[in-house]
Amino acid sequence: MRAAVVPEPGAEFELVERDVPEPDPDEVRVAVEACGICRSDEFVVEGGYPGVDYPRVPGHEVAGRVDAVGADVDAWEPGERVGAGWHGGHCFTCEPCRRGQFLQCENAEITGLTFDGGYAEYATVPAEALAAIPDGLDAVDAAPLLCAGITTYNALRNSDARAGDLVAVVGVGGLGHLAVQYAHAAGYETVAISRTPEKEPLARDLGADHFVNAAESDPAARLSELGGASVVLTTAPASDAIESVVGWLGIDG
Ligand SMILES: [Zn+2]
Ligand SMILES: [Zn+2]
Repeated sequence: MRAAVVPEPGAEFELVERDVPEPDPDEVRVAVEACGICRSDEFVVEGGYPGVDYPRVPGHEVAGRVDAVGADVDAWEPGERVGAGWHGGHCFTCEPCRRGQFLQCENAEITGLTFDGGYAEYATVPAEALAAIPDGLDAVDAAPLLCAGITTYNALRNSDARAGDLVAVVGVGGLGHLAVQYAHAAGYETVAISRTPEKEPLARDLGADHFVNAAESDPAARLSELGGASVVLTTAPASDAIESVVGWLGIDG
């Protein structure tokens, strides 16, 4: 199979031929149909992230079909459509796992970091890390939902915002363009905030009710005019950008 590997920290990608991997007893082999590209793939390229051995195949937005299952896997069958995201499996026995907090597993695996991910024609993934993909969802559309999508979707659905509330999304990039769609679909009055005015047409197409060009106007003043935000979902991981949004929140925001 073909695979795009990072041979060592700081090195360029190499396209190599590899044997198709055999799944361990608790793993599923996924025939990859699409893999999203995430900023966090850069961790593999840069090096320094704990637990990454090289060469490594990145990719943690993996959509495909079950190609083969390990001897102990009964939850999945060949042919089923599945996806794998950042969370690449858990141990079921540590303290967080026994509380059902699998994402906090002390022995958690990370797809494309602690084992080879989706920048290849096949990937073997722990069975418990897979999610089913419905037939109506194209693999290319499904793949980014496995990381960028679930990150923003979970942020909104675990907030206290209700339909009609003002929700601001900071940044209209890989995460933000999905957050705007979720916010719109959830019925929030959706504000897209970006320093790039060229993104306004896209943000509005995706469902933003308002667009604030943060390079030209003060988003805090605009949000306060609109009544204050119930949620500010910031997708730009810069401390000054995050610090600046606190004042944009309304009461109980
Ligand atoms: Zn990611
Ligand atoms: Zn665990």
